[in-house]
Amino acid sequence: MALSPPITLSETDKLDALCRLDQFRQWRSLDEKRYCLVCGKIITGQQIEVAGGTRGNGPLRLSCPTERCNSIPMDWVLPTDEILARVEMMAAEEHKASVPAQTSNGNGGPSRRNKRYNGIASQLRKFALHLKGRS
Ligand SMILES: [Zn+2]
Repeated sequence: MALSPPITLSETDKLDALCRLDQFRQWRSLDEKRYCLVCGKIITGQQIEVAGGTRGNGPLRLSCPTERCNSIPMDWVLPTDEILARVEMMAAEEHKASVPAQTSNGNGGPSRRNKRYNGIASQLRKFALHLKGRS
């Protein structure tokens, strides 16, 4: 093993890093799954990103593969049947929300997320106009 880029670890090294840095649960293989409490996704050992120190005792860090998810190993729980069911339910909800609802179900209407996004967009536009007006 000569020059190795920091993020790419061999399977054994990665498993070793998982075992060492995740002091909350045991890792027996990279195929094991965990449920991330922060982003609500199922992640596998394969997907978990290892970053940081390359020199043995450098501060290695584990991070969730989900973009902008800043969870730590403590947030990764074993996916019990209950959790898997919840994940499935949430995925279904998300799917429902992303499809324009044809019947109103009294849940606050469809695509609340889109509305929020538009709100931010119009705020940004206002802000941009504001900046333009000053120069
Ligand atoms: Zn996450």
